[in-house]
Amino acid sequence: MSEPTVENVVIIGTGCAGLTAAVYTGRANLSPLVVEGPLPGGQLTTTSEVENFPGFPEGVDGFQLMDNLRRQATKFGTRFEQALVQSVDFTSSPRKLVCGDRTILAKAVIIATGASPRMTGIPGESELYGGKGVTTCATCDGAFYRKMEVAVIGGGDSAAEEALFLTRFASKVYFVHRRDSLRASKIMADRATSHPKIQMVWDSVPVEVLGVPEGAVSGLKVKNVKSGAENVLPVKGIFVAIGHVPNTAAFASALDVDANGYFVPSTGSQVQTRVPGVYVAGDCADHVYRQAITAAGMGCQAAIEAERWLAEHGG
Ligand code: NAP
Repeated sequence: MSEPTVENVVIIGTGCAGLTAAVYTGRANLSPLVVEGPLPGGQLTTTSEVENFPGFPEGVDGFQLMDNLRRQATKFGTRFEQALVQSVDFTSSPRKLVCGDRTILAKAVIIATGASPRMTGIPGESELYGGKGVTTCATCDGAFYRKMEVAVIGGGDSAAEEALFLTRFASKVYFVHRRDSLRASKIMADRATSHPKIQMVWDSVPVEVLGVPEGAVSGLKVKNVKSGAENVLPVKGIFVAIGHVPNTAAFASALDVDANGYFVPSTGSQVQTRVPGVYVAGDCADHVYRQAITAAGMGCQAAIEAERWLAEHGG
């Protein structure tokens, strides 16, 4: 029987961090293998215009940016494989990544698994998620709500961006926030709060998604946290934008994570873990900045660290 292949470097994730790491390790002739999970291209593929990625004065479509990055990585010899890493063994060398029946062996590993949308957990939300009216992606689903009323839940830049995007289709957008001022950057907050189609619903938390028996959203029950009054918003679509949860569960027993599940780097570098040759990059390891450009920067750092480590340890 032939010996299983040992990869130089395996990168897990195809968002900004993973693909930037692939460009760098590819250009270093390491022939990286990228393991592609359930959302190829990562979170930017679910956004519309990216206005703050350096080098694009007119903005750039998120999907287009990720497609460019993928082609750039491919040009330098990156290989892609669709698989879900379910568990790892970082006590052995080479490192083992278990994906169902298949185990991938790697000298160095870069984990860039990103983060997934956080959900509110209120009754009706999971029952009516995906095609039934509850969603986390205005870019993907906004066009289904032409001339209808919709609600966005959240208060950060994502919620503001979703609300503004939805004004292209919806007749009215209720922007439900639990406090009386937005967390979003001033420019986004000003745009959202002054938009004629957006109605702010301040100091309010979602209580229940209505429409379970019918199988489609018919309203959102909200509660004012100051007065205690409950009210039903007559919406057909609900866009949840309350932040993200890092995708680190498969690695949590092998590496250090904080109380919220984010990877905690070991001393010395933002991308280094306590396991030699294993690095982390992007939103799975960054709860502070969480930007496309900072994820790309971490991917670059992780790639350079992996390259140096391989040079010293027989890459
Ligand atoms: P975020 O900044 O963490 O905001 C999450 C929002 O959801 C907060 O306003 C929070 O309320 C609210 N929230 C959290 N849990 C909730 C719950 N259970 N029920 C109701 N509301 C809840 O997340 P984000 O908006 O996804 O942004 C993440 C990062 O990406 C940020 O750094 C942001 O600047 C960046 N981003 C940038 C852009 C851009 O520049 N174009 C676009 C999107 C995202 P509180 O405010 O009360 O905590």
